[in-house]
Amino acid sequence: MNEKNARFPQQGYRLGVLGGGQLGKMLGIAAADWHLPICFLDRSAGFPAGGVSPCFTEGSFAEYDDVLAFGRQMDTVTIEIEHVNVNALMELERQGIRVHPRPQALAIIKDKGLQKQFYTDHQFPTAPFVLYESEDHIRRAVRSGELGLPFVQKTRTAGYDGKGVQRIGSEEELEHLLPGPSLVERQVNIAKELAVIAARNPSGEVAAFPMVEMEFNPRANLVEFLLCPARVSRELAQEAEALAKRLIKTFDICGLLAVEFFLSEEGELLVNEVAPRPHNSGHHTIDSCATSQFQQHLRAVLDLPLGSTELQQPAVMVNILGAPEHTGPPRYEGIENCLHLPGVHLHLYGKEVTKPFRKMGHVTVTAAKAEDAIQLAREVRSRLRVIAD
Ligand code: ADP
Repeated sequence: MNEKNARFPQQGYRLGVLGGGQLGKMLGIAAADWHLPICFLDRSAGFPAGGVSPCFTEGSFAEYDDVLAFGRQMDTVTIEIEHVNVNALMELERQGIRVHPRPQALAIIKDKGLQKQFYTDHQFPTAPFVLYESEDHIRRAVRSGELGLPFVQKTRTAGYDGKGVQRIGSEEELEHLLPGPSLVERQVNIAKELAVIAARNPSGEVAAFPMVEMEFNPRANLVEFLLCPARVSRELAQEAEALAKRLIKTFDICGLLAVEFFLSEEGELLVNEVAPRPHNSGHHTIDSCATSQFQQHLRAVLDLPLGSTELQQPAVMVNILGAPEHTGPPRYEGIENCLHLPGVHLHLYGKEVTKPFRKMGHVTVTAAKAEDAIQLAREVRSRLRVIAD
């Protein structure tokens, strides 16, 4: 029998995913295409992934006992969020369960301080930084002249979607420092924010999706618009793809690694941060690439051949965010006015409650020309709204 065929999960095989949000849901949809049995662990089966798999365990992916009990019933365990209990994953590995990404790599990535240290240790370009024990240490460093303003402060753990990140530009703002251990980074003059998703399987195959360019909503600090291909030179795109591939190999991760970059005004390409799982910056791949990031993640963690990452049409992805000042059961406005537009692909996550700026879904617009996709995406963004019913 062909060795690759031998790895295709047969009857009785179980793939477990920690996290049951929208990334889990889209992973579940990709798994259903191949009729792969996939199980989720998260607080409520009412979460998005609960709608696509009957195998949903209610519990906490952050709790040692819950992760261990769930994982022991699986052949392979993976994640769709990184805030999971790493010690339980290490124990599962000891017990012979396959765990992707590797828990030791996850432990580094979960701590932004260790993550940054990893980049400097392995000669990856990143903004200069210093680690501090507490906000008091930062204040003292500024007062003694050791640390200059402005800078960007990032909490080492538990930051997500810009929540543990802030710019400090003046002595007065030192009052608002985030508490606890954090890292302080040089403020980069950002020309563009870019991302590349790399994939790797245990057989050692490595692939990278074409680079995307992100545009942020400055108020919510969330990606609002995403373009593929990125509007950068071929050389820069190749440099970023090569860095993403070297990163996934150096972390020794199987699965996906989403790598976020800054391109500075001075032309430097800097690694900002990574996520070892499917990522918002890869949603467009469902509708625009030969293989979606979700199917690629499944191929990678199951040690199947990786799929082609070729971009088939230019794409723009728009996150559908909950309207500000609206909390409650969601009501989607303007969908009918978008669905008749050509190349519009709607994905709603099925969250039970909308909150200000919460990711409720996304739309990918594909078109033969990038400018047309951008124009249509602007239309979509102006027509769609998620309010509380
Ligand atoms: P998160 O993990 O919350 O996504 P990031 O490290 O990506 O945090 O930071 C969120 C945003 O803050 C970035 O997308 C970027 O716009 C801005 N930012 C982060 N670091 C810097 C920096 N060193 N200089 C300038 N802006 C930064």
